[in-house]
Amino acid sequence: METVKTLKLRIKDKHAKAMLAMARDVNMVWNFANETQYRSLNRYCDRPKTWLSAYDMQKLTAGFVKCEGVVVGAQTVQETCEEFVTRLKHAKKQKLSWRVSNRKSPKYSLGWVPFKKGALKYKDGQIRFNGLNIGLWDSYGLSKYELRAGSFNEDSRGRWYVNVAVKVDVEEKRIPDGSASIGIDLGLKTMATYSDGGSFNPTRWYRASEQKLGIAQRANKKKRVKAIHAKIANQRKDAIHRETSALVKKHAAIFVGNVNAQALAKTSMAKSVHDAAWSMFRNQLKYKAIRHQVIFEEVNEAFSTQTCSSCGALPDSRPKGIAGLGIRDWTCIDCGAVHDRDVNAARNILARGHARLAGGILGSRAREDVKRPSDAINETGEQK
Ligand SMILES: [Zn+2]
Repeated sequence: METVKTLKLRIKDKHAKAMLAMARDVNMVWNFANETQYRSLNRYCDRPKTWLSAYDMQKLTAGFVKCEGVVVGAQTVQETCEEFVTRLKHAKKQKLSWRVSNRKSPKYSLGWVPFKKGALKYKDGQIRFNGLNIGLWDSYGLSKYELRAGSFNEDSRGRWYVNVAVKVDVEEKRIPDGSASIGIDLGLKTMATYSDGGSFNPTRWYRASEQKLGIAQRANKKKRVKAIHAKIANQRKDAIHRETSALVKKHAAIFVGNVNAQALAKTSMAKSVHDAAWSMFRNQLKYKAIRHQVIFEEVNEAFSTQTCSSCGALPDSRPKGIAGLGIRDWTCIDCGAVHDRDVNAARNILARGHARLAGGILGSRAREDVKRPSDAINETGEQK
């Protein structure tokens, strides 16, 4: 099981000149692709107007490295073509902006040199690319990683960085025993109940501030109402951040029921659901889990409330339907186990998560897609 993240590392300034030369080549290829595509769509003759594929573009630029004095290497020429075609498709235009190499121009395009998987090699604190040994500040210990595709990027101060995707093996952090994984049942009364019996309920703040909010609303103090709303939102966000961080630190696998918050928000429980901020909680768990190589999965929670987590039966004594909503504790008449309604549900979610893990279904789903090289985002999520 694996996931991919992008590392951003600063390149030593002495390589700026070589980088700029390569960036100029990339710009030339880009502009050639831009012009060729545009002409193909706008020529005044009987020949069909065609959208060129990345493959077409690669054929058209195949001789660049030999004939046009391009120094950047055939692979990067190809990657530039691919990126151009992808961008054009997304833009739904016939033409993209030119890439400007003149540093004095106000339209100057910050240097960008994409590379394919396998084009970058790491050795003794340096990376080797296109025949160059490039020194960098290795803040991540690159030798630990398998380097994939990425790009070199210039910032507005003329500094250069390499953004490179690396594979992170989730297997490194195997689940030692049952206690290292957790099932989470999301509910209306208690926001999250855990299979180990714990729970998380940040909604109390809202209740406490609700009175103040009511008073302010009746007095029509708009500023005050806004301020209270903002305060509630902040407190809730903080609490959820703290809780999700702690959960990810403590567990190697986290399974959450796939309750549909939107469907429930349409019912009379709307306020509670909104209050509970399930999606914030789930999303944070998800991205923090990916970042820390923790397995995260949403599992089908159908019947998780009604099934006995001890014997797996659907006993007659289970909490059923609307009438069952009020039942907090129940006893399984099949095996005699006494259940807290929500903890039982969380245990069933955990068991289903484990079953899927054993079935190997998670392998393909825990991956995070590789970002396009030029859209590389560094670890903190900051857009370059
Ligand atoms: Zn039972």
